[in-house]
Amino acid sequence: MDLYEYQARDLFEQHGVPVLRGIVADTPEQAEAAATELGGGVVVVKAQVKTGGRGKAGGVKLAKSPAEAKDAAEAILGLDIKGHTVHRVMVAEGAAIKEEYYFSVLLDRANRSYLAMCSYEGGMEIEQLAEERPEALAKVEVDPAAGIDAAKAEEIVRAARFPEELVTKVAPVIVTLYDVFVKEDATLVEVNPLVLTEAGDIIALDGKISLDENAEFRQPGHAELEDKAATDPLEAKAKESDLNYVKLDGQVGIIGNGAGLVMSTLDVVAYAGERHGGVKPANFLDIGGGASAEVMAAGLDVILNDTDVKSVFVNVFGGITACDEVANGIVKALEILGDEASKPLVVRLDGNNVEEGRRILADAAHPLVTVVDTMDEAADKAAELAAA
Ligand code: GDP
Ligand code: MN
Repeated sequence: MDLYEYQARDLFEQHGVPVLRGIVADTPEQAEAAATELGGGVVVVKAQVKTGGRGKAGGVKLAKSPAEAKDAAEAILGLDIKGHTVHRVMVAEGAAIKEEYYFSVLLDRANRSYLAMCSYEGGMEIEQLAEERPEALAKVEVDPAAGIDAAKAEEIVRAARFPEELVTKVAPVIVTLYDVFVKEDATLVEVNPLVLTEAGDIIALDGKISLDENAEFRQPGHAELEDKAATDPLEAKAKESDLNYVKLDGQVGIIGNGAGLVMSTLDVVAYAGERHGGVKPANFLDIGGGASAEVMAAGLDVILNDTDVKSVFVNVFGGITACDEVANGIVKALEILGDEASKPLVVRLDGNNVEEGRRILADAAHPLVTVVDTMDEAADKAAELAAA
């Protein structure tokens, strides 16, 4: 789960990372009041959207008075930044910036480790820096068991070629940022820019945090950071039923058991779709091992409520859960859904007890259901029906 900048700022503050005060506002009037509350001086009004490059897109504006803050908020609210509409701004105390740096620490899955990245040349987009001047971006592996202590932080800062007089100033902030990373179970903590102010202070001026949802069980505070209004309503509905569902932008609804099978189902449907006007999979949905009628009904319910879906491909390989149970699940699910089931279903069953499963579906003879023997043929049929 990615956090908004203001949420990252709050977590930084809680853990002792130096930040400036900030207040969120949903209207220009609230932004004006926030600027007044911050002392009436220079503030920065910043779009709160979960994407970078806000500065370039006009989503970060300096304001010298509460009246200017109101105007800035007026200009920023409603702005579209890379497909994200701005509904909220943060009014933050202005900083007199002397220099801008970059720091991040992230979970490096490929290397089964953590990776710290740091640059003395911050401010610019880090992807651009990594491409144009890779030598200016230090990458230092961090052993998760050892973490980042003062010595490791100094190693990172020196690798980024900070002048020696800054090393002891920046390193403690990096130790604290690592603290946020570990204690909040984050997969990414990024600060761009980390600044040196004219007064000589190091401050995290922008923050990006991604939290590891697998740690929810031990992070009770994270639930309230979730932006329910912004999550896809179908994904929210699926989550309520504990389904592993991800909305995609195609037309063929997909249900399968086991993440690997569902992933390959997406591939064969995308491939078959090329022969049928370019239709694509509409979602990922793994109903897991024990595909009971209730779970099947909940899954179908989510998919059939997706207005983009034109056909559904149910691809199940009977393992521990035998095909006859799955077939009964499909029949019962269609009963439960009644008139709500209104789109053609292509079902491919294989594995444990497949004959009995196919017989059950044949006996039920549901008008919306077509049983196809192989995965490729079923994908083709589902794509054809979605294109019709
Ligand atoms: P991003 O473009 O989405 O990464 O947004 P940032 O929060 O990083 O802001 C973009 C740029 O605005 C920064 O790199 C700074 O140069 C500038 N900026 C942000 N806050 C302040 C501030 O308080 N004072 C000044 N002078 N500049 C700021
Ligand atoms: Mn930034």
